[in-house]
Amino acid sequence: MNLVIFGPPGAGKGTQSKFIVNKFNLHQLSTGELLRKEIINKTKLGSEISSIMNSGKLVSDKIASDLIEEFISNDNYKNRLIFDGYPRNKIQAINLNNLLKKYNQKINLVLKLSVSIDTIKKRIIGRSICSICGKIYNEFFNPAPLNTDCCSARFLQKRSDDTLEISISRYETYEKNIKPVIDFYKETKLLKVVNGEMPISEITDEISGLITGIKGWL
Ligand code: AMP
Repeated sequence: MNLVIFGPPGAGKGTQSKFIVNKFNLHQLSTGELLRKEIINKTKLGSEISSIMNSGKLVSDKIASDLIEEFISNDNYKNRLIFDGYPRNKIQAINLNNLLKKYNQKINLVLKLSVSIDTIKKRIIGRSICSICGKIYNEFFNPAPLNTDCCSARFLQKRSDDTLEISISRYETYEKNIKPVIDFYKETKLLKVVNGEMPISEITDEISGLITGIKGWL
């Protein structure tokens, strides 16, 4: 099964995707993470996209599409993908359907995490990521444990686009583009809205129930 998880930046897509990956043996395909890696590795693509990403705008649909096709076409990930951060607009939603069709696959579930702008600001400002294991923490809601080797303060990193100014711009970009995507998935009856304001474990339980409720794949 393949699923899409979307919601504004800071909604908890990454945190919840990591949980789904572990519990259901799926693969998280985060376009944002793949793009950040290009910048960190100083690739040609990385230098082209860094100013766009740091302004909170979207990279081109072609760049994002090429990234996801690499995974959709790979048999190791067949019917095991969580799309985190893709699609971001209606063109991408249609493109995702076409690519999945091309490789004999489909989307089984679309999860939308809804969260208010006030919560998002706090989540983004407080967010840090362990550079060793990739776990995501938040100094207000979910601080990293003390006295651990892996997730100690020296390994916690902030994303360069996690500033208040850029986060508001990313939220506005999301809001501007996402309505047609929501309508698109409402029509296909695949969309489930999850209250992203709940505590992490409650969101996790709800998502888990929705996934196990999908007939014929477990
Ligand atoms: P995210 O990690 O999902 O918050 O994405 C971080 C940034 O990566 C976004 O603000 C965009 O600049 C870029 N990005 C991620 N996914 C896409 C996408 N599907 N299409 C275009 N740009 C994207």
